Amino acid sequence: MVSTPGGTMAAWRLTAYGAPVSLQEVPVPVPAEGEVLLEVTAVGLCHSDVHLLDSPEPMAFDVPFTLGHEVAGTVVAAPGDPALVGRAVVVHGVWACGTCDRCRSGRTNYCTGRGRAVGGGIGRDGGLARYAVVPVGSVVDATGLAPEVAAPLTDGGLTSYHAVATAADRLPASGGRVVVIGVGGLGHLAVQVLRATTAAQVLATDTHPPALDLATRSGAHVVGTPDDLRAELAPHGGADAVLDFVGADATIALGVDLLGPGGDLVVVGSGGGSLDFRKGALPQGVRVSAPFWGTAEELAAVVALARAGHLVPEVEVIGFDDVPAAYERLRRGGVLGRLVVDPRHTGPPAGSSVTTRGQGGR
Ligand SMILES: [Zn+2]
Ligand SMILES: [Zn+2]
Repeated sequence: MVSTPGGTMAAWRLTAYGAPVSLQEVPVPVPAEGEVLLEVTAVGLCHSDVHLLDSPEPMAFDVPFTLGHEVAGTVVAAPGDPALVGRAVVVHGVWACGTCDRCRSGRTNYCTGRGRAVGGGIGRDGGLARYAVVPVGSVVDATGLAPEVAAPLTDGGLTSYHAVATAADRLPASGGRVVVIGVGGLGHLAVQVLRATTAAQVLATDTHPPALDLATRSGAHVVGTPDDLRAELAPHGGADAVLDFVGADATIALGVDLLGPGGDLVVVGSGGGSLDFRKGALPQGVRVSAPFWGTAEELAAVVALARAGHLVPEVEVIGFDDVPAAYERLRRGGVLGRLVVDPRHTGPPAGSSVTTRGQGGR
């Protein structure tokens, strides 16, 4: 019998759409059969948290729930599998049903049987607390990775990996050319995934100058303005794929402009932009997709890439008390890489933040 912590804990919660993030005292959750209790060791903050908090209309998810959908932790109780206790894990964020046709064909990120909530932090209680209960099937071993590196792999890394996998069949054997638009919390990891898993030439653009440096450190071959990329691609007839991590009107239009015939436009960012989808308005043979997150199997592959040193998230670690200020920074824009919360650290900021640099010279 494993003893569980009991008592209460502080949690950063979405209590009403359009209201500020709220610190509430909630019971430490108790895992049922098929679940595990984690002590949370790191949680990444995501732009989609801000979309949830700031939504002018109620969204599909019932409130309140604890935010935080990029979770790394240590298993402290596992009623069905005590051998898991003590293991460092990351959490796959789509809590799929496991039995629908999509799940059975391995596409758990497109589960049709999970109901409205996506998973912890998006409709269910997430990781912005000392402890979290998650389905045992959602945990992926992350032994050997620092928590602040592991947490951003679950969304920033996984969503990027899945987006690259979506376009991979369009890349020629010689490698081809892939454009990354928006080098933020996801985009810089997409550059690293492209370098690690494809032979493509990687071209990156962003409107924020420090993000261009991050693209270079992440291994992009060509970094610059849209005009720079256009000039580079012109002799080759355009890009084989464009991954748009912004998804605004301007970036979608730029993506179409940079693509060659038969290319792949992959819109990942939720910037609210639209596309004039008409034959004749797009390059011939273009395929457009809007992938969502990724599978637990892909998350395991992402963890393996990180263990091998191919994926190094750029992170800034902050304390538990700094969450509202961090969301404000995300709202304003210009955050480089990922903000990661250590829920075990409370009180005033330590004074200097820890930054893990992306790999340079790759
Ligand atoms: Zn997210
Ligand atoms: Zn399902």
